[in-house]
Amino acid sequence: MEKRIAICPGSFDPITLGHLDIIRRSAALFDEVVVLVSVNYEKHTTFTAAERVDMARRATEGLDNVRVDSDNGLLAEYAKNTGARWLVKGLRAMSDFEYEFQMALTNKKLYPELETLFFTTDIRYMYLSSSMVRQVAAFGGDISEFVCPQLKQEIAARLRRAPD
Ligand code: ADP
Repeated sequence: MEKRIAICPGSFDPITLGHLDIIRRSAALFDEVVVLVSVNYEKHTTFTAAERVDMARRATEGLDNVRVDSDNGLLAEYAKNTGARWLVKGLRAMSDFEYEFQMALTNKKLYPELETLFFTTDIRYMYLSSSMVRQVAAFGGDISEFVCPQLKQEIAARLRRAPD
């Protein structure tokens, strides 16, 4: 039988507990899940692609059917080449919806066999975003409720602003 492969795409700048919740729930439904770190030249990221991939790998270490990859091309092309027919995205609020809806329709146009699935965020992570983690860490706030324990120190140290 055909292997059911899903992709969880994102910038993961850095990967948060909200992302991990969506990844874990996908891993329970599919044979294989690819966490795809996008390398988008138009979008400035705080962490480099190599750092974002490394953090995503360490955060998902215990999940046997999850692997991490990065790509700088079209998501629909990556999915075609990988044999993935599902994209899984998380929805936090209505504000996520319009952009995600547009992306899902575009990807469907480019690769009609590709289905985009939306998972409702876990209520614990509804407010959580990578940019929120970056801001809290920049001011030395506690990020232990937002990122996994094995990344906490590194993210905090990397983002802590030097006092003016
Ligand atoms: P962000 O929107 O935080 O910059 P990404 O671009 O890395 O994150 O997002 C990748 C995917 O993860 C998107 O589908 C996004 O909606 C989802 N996601 C991000 N944070 C959460 C969260 N707290 N709960 C559920 N889904 C989330």
